[in-house]
Amino acid sequence: MDKLVKAVTKDGYFRIYAADTREIVNTAQRYHKLSPVCCAALGRLMTAGVMMGAMLKGDKPSLTLQMKGDGPLGMMVSVSDSEGNVKGYCANPRVDIPLNSKGKLAVGSAVGSGVLGVIKDLKMREPYIGQVPIQTGEVGDDIAYYFMQSEQTPSVVALGVLVDTDYSVKGAGGFIIQVMPECDDEALTMLENSIGGIMTLTEMFERGMTPEEVIKYVMLGFDVEILETTDIGYNCDCSKERMERAIISLGKEQITEILNDTGEAEICCHFCDRKYTFGDAELRRFIDLAK
Ligand SMILES: [Zn+2]
Repeated sequence: MDKLVKAVTKDGYFRIYAADTREIVNTAQRYHKLSPVCCAALGRLMTAGVMMGAMLKGDKPSLTLQMKGDGPLGMMVSVSDSEGNVKGYCANPRVDIPLNSKGKLAVGSAVGSGVLGVIKDLKMREPYIGQVPIQTGEVGDDIAYYFMQSEQTPSVVALGVLVDTDYSVKGAGGFIIQVMPECDDEALTMLENSIGGIMTLTEMFERGMTPEEVIKYVMLGFDVEILETTDIGYNCDCSKERMERAIISLGKEQITEILNDTGEAEICCHFCDRKYTFGDAELRRFIDLAK
């Protein structure tokens, strides 16, 4: 089972989240048959999503991250909540592009330039919607930029996915360190120095480090208190009722057209590939219910 760990430094200067998302990203890979570059891109976004979901407060809040770039991968979406559930998809999951100049999966080029949207639905009033221009498309940089621009919270964001030659996920996860307003310059310099010399996420995956070990390692020299460890997983909450509502929202005219054309409608869930089929009688019922 994948894990998410929340921690703080005892001086209250930093808040830290770390997650192991290997099974989550592997599940996404299986559902969507992701190419390695799409797997890395979506895996990073979902890793950020599950950690950012854990930052939400309220009654069943949800967080949607949407990256709309002009690269070949198309739009990429992650939906998560505060209880460790996450799901995601990307528009063109099988896109393959050459490795970048460093010999790594070219996530930034696959995403392209565009906008990163963050929607927080706290189930009270209107959802909060934030939007920032995509910086590099490497996802981690873009999330850090969002935190700085929209939430005025300087953050270190590290996200990584290590894809094996057979396309399975060898390692996935990351961490977010947030600088609290009361943090002083000395502590900040100390963090910068310690972060500057750390090993890469890939090396951490290869050593099999747990999220707790990652936190203790990246916050070396700080007095860290682990607050909570949560199980996290890829879970889709789609249902027949939800799909019915989606069809009904198409309107009388369009449902009539579907009924006349094929006599049935098949909808496939974007997130988990489950198929829902509605026959003649159901479509007629929807026409009655639709506007
Ligand atoms: Zn689903």
